[in-house]
Amino acid sequence: MFENLSQNINQALRTLKGKGRITDVNVAATLKEVRKALLDADVNFKVAKSVTDTIKEKALGQKILIAVEPGQMLVKIVSDELTELMGGQKVDINTKGDPAVVLMSGLQGSGKTTFSGKLALYLKKQGRNVLLTACDVYRPAAIDQLKVLGEQIGVDVYAEPENKNPVQIAQNAIKHAKATGKKIVIVDTAGRLAVDEEMMREIEAVKKAIQPTETLFVVDSMTGQDAVNTAKAFNDRINFDGVVLTKLDGDTRGGAALSIKAVVDKPIKFIGTSEKMDGIDVFYPDRMASRILGMGDVISLVERAQQAYDEEEARRISKQIRKNQFNFDDFLSQLQQIKKMGPVKDLVGMIPGMGNMLKDVQIDDDAFKPIEAIIQSMTPKERANPELLDASRRKRISTGSGRSIQEVNNLMKQFDQMKKMMKMMNQMDMRSMAKQVRK
Ligand code: GDP
Repeated sequence: MFENLSQNINQALRTLKGKGRITDVNVAATLKEVRKALLDADVNFKVAKSVTDTIKEKALGQKILIAVEPGQMLVKIVSDELTELMGGQKVDINTKGDPAVVLMSGLQGSGKTTFSGKLALYLKKQGRNVLLTACDVYRPAAIDQLKVLGEQIGVDVYAEPENKNPVQIAQNAIKHAKATGKKIVIVDTAGRLAVDEEMMREIEAVKKAIQPTETLFVVDSMTGQDAVNTAKAFNDRINFDGVVLTKLDGDTRGGAALSIKAVVDKPIKFIGTSEKMDGIDVFYPDRMASRILGMGDVISLVERAQQAYDEEEARRISKQIRKNQFNFDDFLSQLQQIKKMGPVKDLVGMIPGMGNMLKDVQIDDDAFKPIEAIIQSMTPKERANPELLDASRRKRISTGSGRSIQEVNNLMKQFDQMKKMMKMMNQMDMRSMAKQVRK
């Protein structure tokens, strides 16, 4: 996501590199480029102008710090400004109440139903007792879709397929939740392909009747400026509490993320990052800003790793590495852990510098398949003792896995190099390594 924007902004900031200090002249040229990058990313033009004006003011007002290059200083100012633009602080959803009621709004296709499922699973993982409610009375398929999701994530779904009154269904769902001890009711409503009066009246009526603790507006980030206009239309009518930006895993230009807060003055609370039920992230403005600037998003990466990583297994493997006994079983286990963390392309984008560097490289998760096939064709004894793998064993593995002998040999070579590197890292003073990283 945001590949073009981050590339263009980086390009603009690079022109300041090596300049002794920030002056009216050089900062103006750079900021013109930054503004262009924002407009290219479909950021609302008023927003883009006001951001670059603020950046300029701050940049010129800065004392010149000898230790910091002007380019770096400007990156920091831009990053702070983008963070502010997206709301500054993360804002949590309100789930207090007995039961708490979360109302979903948004156009058809925005990802409302999918997100309802994701949010239910997210809250369930926190130990909350959740009820999903299907209030789309126009599309029977929408009810089925929610039921399928509910089954998949183990959350009950309340529906009344014969009832055509969404207000009643929502009210009944809340009664049902009270009777069955559910603590959070998520109400998925009907959308339309475009903003229309009937839909607005309906969602307004539902909101008025059930007085939700939290009303979320779900919007597809790929729709750029339209996303901002739709947000405005919904907010004017139902005064929602927060925004959910979906499909940020796609080829979005980022304009919606950057303009929505400024235009409707409501925080983005969550983002959707895949079609799957675990593709939900809390929205952190500072992390998003650093991602946009291609500085990576190390914090999210670490958090995702913490969630997916089996710590005991990680400890065991790091012991193996320290003893220089890393083998193919460990290798396979590492691969599987990485895969659990989500699509590889997402992960790479979170590493500082990598997102830009690898933007044209196709990375897909199938890349691991040949490697897995080869390792899985080894006997347990071979996996534990890679030195056993002579030419005839390699040939057998090649036939068994359906991969060429070159691929098998390549994997052996890579594995050897990896082991060598691990050995070197073991010997390196960790403190001097940390110093390198900081430079
Ligand atoms: P609704 O009409 O608003 O309920 O939208 P749906 O939940 O049915 O979603 C519409 C389409 O968008 C479906 O194909 C979803 O799988 C897809 N979708 C929803 N959220 C995301 C997301 O975060 N990323 C991606 N790539 N697809 C999504």
